Amino acid sequence: MTAAPTFPIDPADMFALKNWLAAQVSAGSSLRSIDIDEILIGSDVLLELPAVLQRAGTQPGAQVLLVMDETPMLREREDLKPFVQALMDNAGYHVEPLWLKGDQYGLVHADFDQVDFVQASIEPGTALVTLGSGTVTDIAKHAAYLYHQENPGEDPVVYICCQTANSVTAYAANMAVLLKNGVKRTISSRYPTAIIADLRILASAPKAMTLAGLGDCSARFVAWRRTHEGESVVARALLLAGIAQSIVNMSAPISGTEHVISHSLDMIAGHYHHGLALHGAQVGVATLTAAELYQRFLDNFDPRAVDIDATYPNSQHLHAHIRRLFQPIDPSGAMARECWNDYSQQLTLWRRNRAHFEQFCKDWYSIHRSKLASLVSSPQVVHQVLAQAGAPLTPQELEPPISQEEYDFAVHNGHFIRTRFVLSDLLYFLGWLT
Ligand SMILES: [Zn+2]
Repeated sequence: MTAAPTFPIDPADMFALKNWLAAQVSAGSSLRSIDIDEILIGSDVLLELPAVLQRAGTQPGAQVLLVMDETPMLREREDLKPFVQALMDNAGYHVEPLWLKGDQYGLVHADFDQVDFVQASIEPGTALVTLGSGTVTDIAKHAAYLYHQENPGEDPVVYICCQTANSVTAYAANMAVLLKNGVKRTISSRYPTAIIADLRILASAPKAMTLAGLGDCSARFVAWRRTHEGESVVARALLLAGIAQSIVNMSAPISGTEHVISHSLDMIAGHYHHGLALHGAQVGVATLTAAELYQRFLDNFDPRAVDIDATYPNSQHLHAHIRRLFQPIDPSGAMARECWNDYSQQLTLWRRNRAHFEQFCKDWYSIHRSKLASLVSSPQVVHQVLAQAGAPLTPQELEPPISQEEYDFAVHNGHFIRTRFVLSDLLYFLGWLT
């Protein structure tokens, strides 16, 4: 591979990271703290798990809940799950495996039933260790968070995250993405006490998972192979992305149009009778679409042609439209209600900020167009990055494949699922998203 791209800050150097943050805060920026004790990235860092537990204050003899799904995993030739259990057993911990059960496709969903299941198994002094990727991480993270909310007199639960794939940004984030009434919601949660990114594990994960991680933080790398070096680059990028969203207290830095497309695909998968494709793989494909939309917007947006009044649609009509859209997918109406709950807030904000939009239109050619152009990658660059790595480029190349009909639904309607204003919201208001 080419030389590993370097990052301005190494997430594995927590001391430097916290110093950098402190400097930003004393210079006046209102960033949140990073409450992670340590992040280990290396070829054998898994072996340090017992020492990490001890540094976190969990001594041998304590109970450790080992949270996992039922997918068999390897660390090179080693059967990973029994290996980790033995590692902690031998160090004197009382390990209790906690298996999360999947749906008819074997897939574990990050929903509140799973969170409740883990939370109910936590006792005073129990430490949590997760051995899994994003879903397992989000479930256990949020269970530890809720347990502490409900038992504020106890010390926060020690929670060590052993990531098993370079697939998502969830590991280092203090937020969890959970299903609420069938809609994916990013909610406040907590940081892990420590993160272990063992490169032998990450390089043994299915290639599709690392490609998904690449898709999730998209156009960052030039070329890489699945060496430990390559995995360590993707691991660092994903961990920094997780930390970035946490210190600004919202997922906005890494979640725009491409994420609402991906989340909508997850929401409608059941209706189309198939399981979910990997989040990051979907995000990669949707990033291509988002890059094309940006390109179209940059090339064609002409504020002089905008009928400003027409960009403020009638709320009641929109509410009825959203109910109609989601009726076939969820006849109970819960999904449409959950969407409207958030989307109606966006409409209110959109109306309230009309003067800003008018100003934006006035300043488009003098200020905003060149600034926006400097921030977004062209579709050609995104395509090249994903293609070189061998990542899926079309919805049909995802696993399971997603039909054009489903994908178009997600592109055209994904923006209805939440409050945050993204490019596809603007395109919808402009009447371009049809
Ligand atoms: Zn993501």
